[in-house]
Amino acid sequence: MGEYILEVRNLKKYFQTSYGTVKAVDDISFEVVKGTTMGLVGESGSGKSTTGHVVVGLFPPTAGKIIFKGKDISVPLEKRPKKIKRDIQMVFQDPASSLNPKKIIRDIVGLPLLVHRMVETREELEEKVSKLLELVELPPEDYMYRRPGDLGGGEKQAVSIARAIATNPSFVIFDEPTSALDVSIQAKIINAILDIQEKFKLSSLFITHDLSLMRNISSHVAIMYLGKIVEIAPTEVFFQKPMHPYTQMLLSSVPVLTKEEEELKPKGIESVGEIGSPIHPPKGCRFHPRCPYAIKGMCDKKEPMLKEIEPGHFVACHLYD
Ligand code: SF4
Repeated sequence: MGEYILEVRNLKKYFQTSYGTVKAVDDISFEVVKGTTMGLVGESGSGKSTTGHVVVGLFPPTAGKIIFKGKDISVPLEKRPKKIKRDIQMVFQDPASSLNPKKIIRDIVGLPLLVHRMVETREELEEKVSKLLELVELPPEDYMYRRPGDLGGGEKQAVSIARAIATNPSFVIFDEPTSALDVSIQAKIINAILDIQEKFKLSSLFITHDLSLMRNISSHVAIMYLGKIVEIAPTEVFFQKPMHPYTQMLLSSVPVLTKEEEELKPKGIESVGEIGSPIHPPKGCRFHPRCPYAIKGMCDKKEPMLKEIEPGHFVACHLYD
């Protein structure tokens, strides 16, 4: 096991609303090894995007710690040292709303370079932005002076990626970077991300609801359900031997292409019901109202803790107590 670049310890993020306290993230812990990608997977409402937003500093944690390169950075964004802000970047789900429509692409991609004083002259800025646009396969001569409104969804997301890597970060959070895009463009963006991860030896957190994406992108997978992590494993182990009933349910609905993949799919567990409310999560195991293996008197009362069942494979389920 290599050195950790990110350690998330007992992280909680609660929001107060007129309906009650939303426990979006409720005591989760995980690590990302330097140079690797952790895939954070879950349905809508599982807390995966909130986790990314807390790590990048958009929301302060309610409790718990975020340790980055050995330093505690569990403070709001404005209190983080500039060096840390430069080193952790995020690519958002909807590129249209994260790019200023009034600015030209040179100024959007170049803004972090100016903020962090990484260029001194206009020529230097244009040269760096050109290189960044080439990295995401947008020819600078065609794109530098255009505005986001002139671009398609995939091109906008490529601009967001160029902006995110402008400061040469060591950690990037990708929050569902392809879910707002046409299927035809998704593969192109994923390839651009894979290339950049390789070239820059990036460490990342890749947030998605799409399990099949995880195989190519991540070295480890963590599954979230209603604010909790229910399973963590190396990606290969995860696909060959999913242990948590919720993970099995997610995998059983993933479309497959080959007979071998079909054989590996968990059988006998169908996708039923919907994720519960993070304001009043079910007692005991939060998945118990949907779980075909729920043990009466146990799963509806006692919360299962995340335990290491085999080296590197953690599961929170009473079936493995
Ligand atoms: Fe199902 Fe019980 Fe395991 Fe929860 S703890 S996943 S309800 S068997």
